[in-house]
Amino acid sequence: MALIVQKFGGTSVADPDKIRNVARRVMKKAAEGNRMVVVLSAMAGETNRFVDLATQMQAIPDPREMDVLLSSGEQVTVALFAMAVKDEGMNAVSLLGDQVKISTDNTHTKARIKEINADLIKQHLDNGTIVVVAGFQGVTADGDITTLGRGGSDTTAVALAAALKADQCEIFTDVDGVYTTDPNICSRARKIDRITYDEMLELASLGAKVLDIRSVGLAKRFKVPVHVRSSFTETEGTWVVEEDDTMESMLVSGVTYNKNEATITISRVPDTPGTAAKLFTPISEAGIVVDMIIQNTRAGDLTDMTFTVPRSDYERAMRIVNEVAGEIKAESVNGSLGITKVSIVGVGMRNHSGIATTLFNVLAREGINILMISTSEIKVSCVIEEKYTELAVRALHDAFELERDNQPVPE
Ligand code: ADP
Ligand code: ASP
Ligand code: MG
Repeated sequence: MALIVQKFGGTSVADPDKIRNVARRVMKKAAEGNRMVVVLSAMAGETNRFVDLATQMQAIPDPREMDVLLSSGEQVTVALFAMAVKDEGMNAVSLLGDQVKISTDNTHTKARIKEINADLIKQHLDNGTIVVVAGFQGVTADGDITTLGRGGSDTTAVALAAALKADQCEIFTDVDGVYTTDPNICSRARKIDRITYDEMLELASLGAKVLDIRSVGLAKRFKVPVHVRSSFTETEGTWVVEEDDTMESMLVSGVTYNKNEATITISRVPDTPGTAAKLFTPISEAGIVVDMIIQNTRAGDLTDMTFTVPRSDYERAMRIVNEVAGEIKAESVNGSLGITKVSIVGVGMRNHSGIATTLFNVLAREGINILMISTSEIKVSCVIEEKYTELAVRALHDAFELERDNQPVPE
């Protein structure tokens, strides 16, 4: 008898029929004698709808109230799911984050899980009840509701699997597994059967939203093997696991894109020591994570700086930068929401040169202008105009021959 945590994403619970189908799938496993813990997202589109509603009330929504609103989507699906199970004659109980208790810090809208109390879940499991937990939410020490950041239900699932020492953690979604790139925009994308935690961390950090990055970090830390698979088929998906000798070592494991960033440019700043500190300190104090930064020196001791921030923090970041701009005597501040970061990722890149050059040539051939570049040992990222995202992803996937499972190594 195994303890299984299964998480179903928004598209898997998008309407009452889908919820019922998923409930049946879980009940089948329960009927085989397994102890089932289910983690659910909100119905597809709901969380976005809430964000939209909130911005109609306040340009920068109050984070505490935002969490009260955002967490409501998952409350709906867990209740409906438990009803579906009961309707079919089995027992289920829905639990919210504060009932479980999933304790978090108080960073509203992107809280981190500090501790999970598994006692209540275990009690219900001992009674043969299917436990249905609302994903994406937790509670602070003061009893305030928090959410874990977009895509956070994956993190709830893996954290529960770790806390319960589950035998399996399965993430059910609308694709068959983890692919070499988003299969919804590149038909030649290839499903990866097994991927290491580290490679998955890289893919997730650069935009492969099939798994939330913090869920991968937790899975690695607590050695939870994660099976990513489709809610709509029985096909074996992708296993995210520790590295072993049997794994294919790929030069480039995938192409990712991230449309959730924005650029901010601050122009003609006096090029003096301390300018960057003055600019970035208040941004980081506001909990905004800056990703890429470039600085160009102009003639006459002036400099321009461009950097990226998450799109969801854009308004707040612009407000801060505009305040600092006066202080550091910058000439102007401009921002753009219409950008995408496209990346190629692969631990095999460490030992090969020429990968970045291939990427630049591919984008040039397609007439795509590169706005920013950043590289590390195992990835190259370029910021481009958002409208070229699909074109860039497909061209790069083809150029690196990722549809093949034995890629050619460049000379
Ligand atoms: P869920 O609502 O189930 O959590 P998400 O929309 O968060 O689903 O994640 C699944 C989506 O991730 C897929 O529909 C796909 O478009 C996207 N995706 C991006 N990159 C990849 C990738 N490398 N492999 C698989 N899916 C990917
Ligand atoms: N409903 C939340 C979101 O859309 C959490 C999740 O689906 O994982 O981001
Ligand atoms: Mg998701």
